Amino acid sequence: MTDLDRDWKELERAQLWHPYAAMTGAPQAFPVVSASGVRLKLEDGRELIDGMSSWWSAIHGYNHPRLNQAARQQLEMMSHVMFGGLTHPSAAKLGRLLVELTPQPLQHVFLCDSGSVSVEVAIKMAIQYWYVLGKPQKSRLLTIRNGYHGDTFGAMAVCDPVTGMHHIFSHLLPQHLFADAPTCRSDADWREEDIASLQQLVEQHHGELAAVILEPIVQGAGGMRFYAPEYLRRVRALCDQYDLLLIADEIATGFGRTGRLFACEHAGIAPDILCLGKALTGGYLTLAATLATTPVAETLSSGEPGVFMHGPTFMGNPLACAVAVESIKLLLESPWQQRVQSIAAGLETGLALCRELPGVADVRVLGAIGVVELKEPVAMQTIQPAFVAKGVWVRPFGRLVYLMPPFIMEQEDLAFLTAAVCAVVTETTGAA
Ligand SMILES: *Cc1c(COP(=O)(O)O)cnc(C)c1O
Repeated sequence: MTDLDRDWKELERAQLWHPYAAMTGAPQAFPVVSASGVRLKLEDGRELIDGMSSWWSAIHGYNHPRLNQAARQQLEMMSHVMFGGLTHPSAAKLGRLLVELTPQPLQHVFLCDSGSVSVEVAIKMAIQYWYVLGKPQKSRLLTIRNGYHGDTFGAMAVCDPVTGMHHIFSHLLPQHLFADAPTCRSDADWREEDIASLQQLVEQHHGELAAVILEPIVQGAGGMRFYAPEYLRRVRALCDQYDLLLIADEIATGFGRTGRLFACEHAGIAPDILCLGKALTGGYLTLAATLATTPVAETLSSGEPGVFMHGPTFMGNPLACAVAVESIKLLLESPWQQRVQSIAAGLETGLALCRELPGVADVRVLGAIGVVELKEPVAMQTIQPAFVAKGVWVRPFGRLVYLMPPFIMEQEDLAFLTAAVCAVVTETTGAA
C-alpha cells in the first residue's frame, strides 16, 4: 500500500474530483492544512484571507471554539443514529429554533443532507400536496431565469437553462416554466413591467402548476443578481390569487447574509415551503432543512398515501444538528446586523475603485455580498493563482468576481481583501 503520509498532494491529483472540474489535466487545487478565524493556511505556510465563507457557509469563521465544543459534546453522546422511529435532543432543539426564527406560518421541519436534497424535498412536497387534494395535474413548477437551486435532477430542472450549467441533461429533465428575471434592484425603481412575464405564465398555466420556486432577493450561482422586494410581494400575491404554493430557496441567503435573518423579510412575505442549508451549521457539516406551513404538512399527512414520501439515511444527523443549534445561538447572540452592515459599507468603499475600470460591467453590494461583474469571463487558470499570490481566497465564476466574507471579518482584513480584488481585476482585465 502507498505511504499515505508521503506527498498527499500528488496522491489526490489522480483520483479526486473537485466541484465542476475535469479529472484529467485538472489544475492543481491549493492544499489547505488548517483554517482559523477568517484565515486559511496553505501547506507552504502562506495564509489567505477568506472571501468566500466556503460558499456562503462559514459565517462565524473557521475553527470556532463554541462550534468545536458543540461537536465534541455531541460526539461523546453519539455522532449518528437513524431518524426512522428514533429521535434525539439536538434535532428537537434545532427544529424548534428554525420554526421560531423563520416567518410565522412555517411550523414544520424536514431535515436532510444538503441544499440540493432540500430542494428535491420541497418539490416533492408541492407535488404530493396537490396529489392529495385530488389535483394531480398540478405538477409543474414555475421559476425565474438566472436561478440556481442545486445539482440533482429535480433541482437542475429549475436552474436557469442557460447559466444553470446543466444544459447537456436538459432533454431528461421535467419541462418547467421560466419567467424573465426581475430587473429592478430596489422598490424605489420598481416598474410594473418587471412582473409581466411571470404574471402571464401564472395566468396561462396555473391549472397545471404546483408551485413557484425562486431565490428571494438574491439570485446566487445563476448570476449573483439582486432584485426588488416588490417583485417578491407580487409573486406572493399571484400565488395566493391563483392557488399556487410558493417555495423560497434561502439556502444561500438564509442566516443574515443579506442583512435580514432571511431574505423574505425584505418583502415581509412568508413562503409555503422554505429551503435552508449552507450557513445552517456555520460551515461545519452538511445539513439542510425544508420547512412547511401547517396546511402543507396536514395535507401531506392526510389522504393517500398519508405520509410524506422521503427519508434519507442520515436524516437529522445528531452531530450536524448539535453544531447547527450552537451556530444559530452564536449568530443570535452576536451583533450580526451591525457586522453585516459594516461589511456592506466596507465592500462599497473597497470595491468602488472597480467601478471605474473599463473591463467592469457593474459593481453591486447587498448585505455581506459584494459582486464585481466583468464584461468578459475570467480565465480561471490565471485569476485563481493571482488571488492566492495577493494573499486572499476568492473563487470567481464566469464574469463574476464576488465576495461573501465571514461575518466576523474586521475592517482591516476586509480592506485588504477588496484591495486584492481591485488589483487582480485591474491586472486581468488589462487596464493600466
Ligand atoms: C448552493 C445552493 C443550492 C444547493 O445546495 P448544495 O448544498 O450545494 O446541494 C441550492 N440553492 C441555492 C440557492 C444555493 O445557493
